[in-house]
Parts: sequence; C-alpha cells; structure tokens
Amino acid sequence: MFLKTLRSLGHTLALRLTIWYAGIFAASSIVACTLVYALVVAVVQERTDEDLEGDMEEFASLMQSGGFERVKAEIAVETQGEEASHVFIRLWAPDGRELMATDLSSWPGLGNPLEVLARVDSADEPILATLALPRRADKVRIIYGTIAPGLVLEIGESLEEDEELIAALLRGFFIALPAVTLLGGPIGWFMARRALRGVQEVTRTATEIANGALDRRVEVRSQGDELDTLARTFNTMLDRIQALIIGMREMTDNLAHDFRSPLGRIRASADITLTNGGSKAESEAMAATTTEECDRLLEMINTTLDIAEAESGAAKLKLTDIDLVELVGDALELFQPIAEDQQITITADLPDHCRIHGDRQRLQRVVANLLDNGLKYMPTGGRVTITLVAEGERITLSIEDTGIGISADESARIFERFYRCDRSRSKQGNGLGLSLALAFVRAHGGDITVNSTPGQGSTFTVVLPRSRHGRYFQQGP
Ligand code: ADP
Repeated sequence: MFLKTLRSLGHTLALRLTIWYAGIFAASSIVACTLVYALVVAVVQERTDEDLEGDMEEFASLMQSGGFERVKAEIAVETQGEEASHVFIRLWAPDGRELMATDLSSWPGLGNPLEVLARVDSADEPILATLALPRRADKVRIIYGTIAPGLVLEIGESLEEDEELIAALLRGFFIALPAVTLLGGPIGWFMARRALRGVQEVTRTATEIANGALDRRVEVRSQGDELDTLARTFNTMLDRIQALIIGMREMTDNLAHDFRSPLGRIRASADITLTNGGSKAESEAMAATTTEECDRLLEMINTTLDIAEAESGAAKLKLTDIDLVELVGDALELFQPIAEDQQITITADLPDHCRIHGDRQRLQRVVANLLDNGLKYMPTGGRVTITLVAEGERITLSIEDTGIGISADESARIFERFYRCDRSRSKQGNGLGLSLALAFVRAHGGDITVNSTPGQGSTFTVVLPRSRHGRYFQQGP
C-alpha cells in the first residue's frame, strides 16, 4: 500500500518539481560555497602577503635610518618569546652566507635558499613563496627582499591561523551544505504544491463538470499569472461549451416542437380516413395532406442542415461574378404579385450594376427571405423599400418595411434558429429564414443587422464584401 502510494507519487509533477528544485538548490549552494571559499582563501593570502611586504618595507627603512645594528635589534624584538615559533627571520649575503638568524628550533628543515637569493638580488620586487616543512603541520609563507646593497632579508610567517580560519570555514560548509540540501526537499515540495494549486483547482473543476455540474467554474485569483490565464481560458471554454449545449438543447426542443404539429396533422388525417372507412376521395385528401406536411418537414430539415453546413464553414460556395442589381430585380419580379395582393408598394433604389463575387443561389435565398419577411409581417397598404449602395469593396443592401416592427429584446434573438416573435406567430413560418440568411451572408464574409421600432417598421441591412478577401464581421464567441 505504502509502496503503491510512493510509486503513484513518483509520477506526479509536484514530486518531479521538488526533486528538480532540491537538486538546483543543492547545486547552487555548492557553487556559492566554492565561490566563498575561493574568495576567503584569496583574501587571507593577500592579507598575509601585505603584512610581509609591510614588514620588509619597515626593515628596509630601518636599515637606511639606523643601519645593520638597528635592524638586528628590531629582529630580536619581533621574534622574542612565543613569536619564535610563529615567525623566523634570517639575513643573507647574496652569495648564500647566513649573516644572522633568529631561533630556528621550531623551524626544522629550513635549507639555504641559494637559488632564491640569486634571483632576489637581481629583482626589483621582493619574492614570495609558500613552503611545507617536515614535522610542521602548518605551512609557512616566506618573503625575500633586498633591504640594502648586498643584504637580503628573509621573513617566514606561519600560516597556522589562516589555515585554521579556512578549516573552520570548510567545517561550516560541510555542516551547512547537507542541511541546506535536506531543507531544499521540503521547501521545493511546498513551492511545487503552491505553484500547482491552480492546476489542481482546474482539474477538480473539470472532474466536477465531468460528473455533471456543468455550471461550475474555476476561481480566478486575479494575480495576473499564467494560472489566472489558464483559469480564464478554461472558464471561457466552459461558457462556450455550455452556450453550445444550451443552443443545441433549445434547437432540439424547437425541432421536436415544430415536428409535433405536422406529424399530429398527418396522424389525425390518417385517423379520420381510417375511421370513416376511407372513400377514394378521402384517401386522396389524406395523401395530399401527408405530402404537404412531409414537404414542410423536409424543408425544415433541409434548411437546418443548410444552416449547419454554412455555419461550420463547410458550405462550398459556388462563387461566380454576379450582378446584384440583376439578382434583386429578379426577386422583385417574383414578389411583385404577392405585394400587389396585399396592396403593398415596393420601391427600389438600385444602381445600374453592382458586381459581386458570390454564390448566386445562396444570395438569392438571402434576398428572398428578407423580402418575404418584409411582406409577411406587414399589414395591408404598407411600403417596402430596397436600397443597394456600393462603396469601394463594401456593398450595402437595405430592405426597409413599414410593418409591425420588432421590440429591442426580440431583435437580439430573431437570428437564432426557430426563434419567432410572439406577435408574428399567426403568420406561417418556422423561424429559420433569418438564421439561414445570416449563415449564408457570413459565409460570404458579410453580416446582417436589424434596426426596428415596434409598430413602425424594420430595416434589415446586409453588408457584403465585393470579394471574399474582405470581411465585415467578427465571428462571435
Ligand atoms: P419566420 O419568418 O419563418 O418566422 P425568420 O427567421 O425569417 O422566421 O424570422 C424570425 C422572426 O423574426 C419572425 O418570426 C418574426 O417574428 C421576426 N421578423 C423577421 N422579419 C421581420 C420583419 N420584417 N418585421 C417584423 N418581424 C420580423
């Protein structure tokens, strides 16, 4: 059980981040300690060398001011008592003759530095060297310098204190480094858990959604970091999915609702025919009703499919160069008799030509649907005005009517599939005409908007680019 938990933990990002963190923490601590060590060693050595050089200068000026005897007296003072085991001084003639030396009993194995003496004599600067002596645990730092012509001074100083300081530093490192490395684990774990808390929140929300709570959202902590962006993107995606699901639910509800009436009528007509024994005339009437209702159903299904195809971008537009003036003219001709029946005047303000690269059949359906609505939702005696304006790449077609109008609330919904305003339910229709028109216009890179006042009329404005290179709408979320 424990092993299994451990193994599953091994696959978590948190553990991997912790290991990385602890590793990087340890490595950077080692690098930092090494740097500090090198720095301390350099500083300590520099300090010792500066001391020795200072002494050498002091003896040189003593030599100048007080002569050999004064130097000898000063050497005796400097190396008396305990100092004799810490410092030794010798005076040499450049040919290797020892002129004077302090008590060397604590400095076994000090030889004659003949070779160095020869070099010192010809050098401008003193020479520094480090020596390890047999039977002494510490090393010795030695300076050789000429303090007067033919007189070389050698001062040796034990590095014991420096070595102790460095050893203490090393001991500190050896204790601190494992402690820091061990501490890196829990700190890394804490930081990894903190960093991943947002991801866990997203995972938890996703799990809740998977279990059916579709309206759950990830809390955005407004810290402006990547996790906030992830949470916001995730929530936007959820909103979109939820809107799509609601849309689909509404559509299937509407579809079911709109299917029920024609199917009910087919069934009722079949029932009547069966109950009445079914004369030939009745059977024919039933067949006619069935055909009519089936046609209506088929039209509804086909329109729904056309909209879905256009919206998904799969509609293969059959693009050709067409004259929109001609297309609108054909539509007017078609609707003129209906308008006359309703005593509606149609006026058109069209240019001579308006060429556009578009799908003739689909644009025909757009114009027909808008004109049909203009006439349908209009009491007798009204007016429909069609205007076509081309400005550069932008073509604007407006269809204005003096009909029943649409309220602001309803205007926002009339392009939804199956949506019908309350006041227009008495007229025949399935609420798909505007959705289809909008889907086709958007497939051309254009857009449709509506401006309406209830009781006064509506204006539907179609904006189209001359070719599909230009786009006049932003696909909403
Ligand atoms: P249908 O006309 O088949 O109902 P549409 O999608 O063409 O479906 O229109 C949706 C709804 O928008 C209509 O039911 C009607 O309520 C409203 N509508 C559309 N055009 C007009 C118009 N010109 N005047 C008033 N209402 C309109």
